Amino acid sequence: MSKNLTSRTEDYSKWYNELVVKADLAENSAVRGCMVIKPYGYAIWEKMQAELDRMFKETGHENAYFPLFVPKSLFEAEEKNAEGFAKECAVVTHYRLQNDPDNEGKLRVDPEAKLEEELVVRPTSEAIIWNTYKGWIQSYRDLPIMINQWANVVRWEMRTRLFLRTAEFLWQEGHTAHATKAEALVEAEQMNDVYATFAENFMAIPVVKGVKTESERFAGAVETYCIEALMQDGKALQAGTSHFLGQNFAKAFDVKFTNNEGKQDHVWATSWGVSTRLMGALIMTHSDDKGLVLPPNLAPSQVVIVPIFKTDEQFEAITAKTEAIIKELRALGVSCKFDKRTTHRPGAKFAQHELQGVPLRIAIGPKDLENNTVELARRDTLTKEVVSLDGLAPKVKELLEVIQDELFAKALKFRDTHITKVDDFETFKKVLETKTGFISAHWDGTAETEQKIKELTKATIRCIPMDNTQEEGVCVFSGQPSTQRVLFAKAY
Ligand code: AMP
Repeated sequence: MSKNLTSRTEDYSKWYNELVVKADLAENSAVRGCMVIKPYGYAIWEKMQAELDRMFKETGHENAYFPLFVPKSLFEAEEKNAEGFAKECAVVTHYRLQNDPDNEGKLRVDPEAKLEEELVVRPTSEAIIWNTYKGWIQSYRDLPIMINQWANVVRWEMRTRLFLRTAEFLWQEGHTAHATKAEALVEAEQMNDVYATFAENFMAIPVVKGVKTESERFAGAVETYCIEALMQDGKALQAGTSHFLGQNFAKAFDVKFTNNEGKQDHVWATSWGVSTRLMGALIMTHSDDKGLVLPPNLAPSQVVIVPIFKTDEQFEAITAKTEAIIKELRALGVSCKFDKRTTHRPGAKFAQHELQGVPLRIAIGPKDLENNTVELARRDTLTKEVVSLDGLAPKVKELLEVIQDELFAKALKFRDTHITKVDDFETFKKVLETKTGFISAHWDGTAETEQKIKELTKATIRCIPMDNTQEEGVCVFSGQPSTQRVLFAKAY
């Protein structure tokens, strides 16, 4: 199976598409730009959801659910947001089909069933949520509101890729309301930090925390915080965003509250989201030419046990041993699967689990039974060792932690060796052609320069890093003075 995978150096994009399908994560559907997430892919997404949900609750948020549709008049209310998303909106105009009199056996939209007001399928939910919050907020005692929703959204993207950019995608969107600007700013930064911690500690993906430039900012936001990751082909990926929305939505939806001095004021807002794009980030950060490599935290099964046998007696003896091993592993919180299918040979099973990125494989054969051993194979390093059955479970648990840490360290090393400081535009272009990755360069702070660089090189400003040090310099393009470096890259 795995030998059929195109290698990353041969064609990175093809490698990615093949891997997603062959590892049974997702596939294209009959609907343009929309994917089917298959059980194995969905199990990984569920792991991400569970951990994020835990982190959101730990930081004081609750889940709720709002409608899929946004009446057009509400959608229009916050002008910048509406303008920013207008080009990608799917719109419901009718509510009924009927038999087509001119085309037997076919259906058509019933012209009589035109909606009085068109409905936008949510590309993001600020409008419907702020319209709702208006009814919930009267005084400072009603604040803050700290809500998250798990949902699907639709953005009619023209160029789609499985997980990375789809027309319908799954995500979570947090929407909070606050009495003060300071509190909303703290919230927006806090949630970007939550995303960064999640990406690094849970997904083993190093990220740069930063703020977006005005032209890359979320439509309707005052400030967009983001986490940016670097993929193995040297392209950047926006992995999460958190927006400080100021009072823009409160003003658009007339959401006011009486503050503790008895004065009326508009409410301050944030919104923040990560999507199934994280699946793409996961795949492109860790996987190799043999298939998926999963950090143990995200693996639906952290260990797979493959029996190697010829006779029924051998199988029975191996099964008995395996059941005991599984019990011990589960007691330590390690998830495992016993692949006792008789329809597949061990070699085919090895290949499949390699392709699907199971972090550890244990193989047990008759010789192992005699010697009280098993063969333990790591997916990330593709190394094997024969180990004693005594103390196997704690060893496995420890090894899973080592794998999680080493995957992060490896990705971090790659990222850090792919940040190049550049001070002139010729080098800038050369680096983009040869080395790829992030370019750290001075920028004069204007949208014109940003746009010109994008036109000439396809590189965009991914972010202004949060931990930037002030440094006097001149813009890599215009030569105008600049006080800090920003990160440029070609991006997904
Ligand atoms: P935004 O609301 O634009 O700030 O996006 C929220 C999150 O969804 C970010 O992490 C984006 O990277 C991600 N995202 C945006 N568009 C898509 C898409 N078409 N498919 C998958 N994820 C997306």
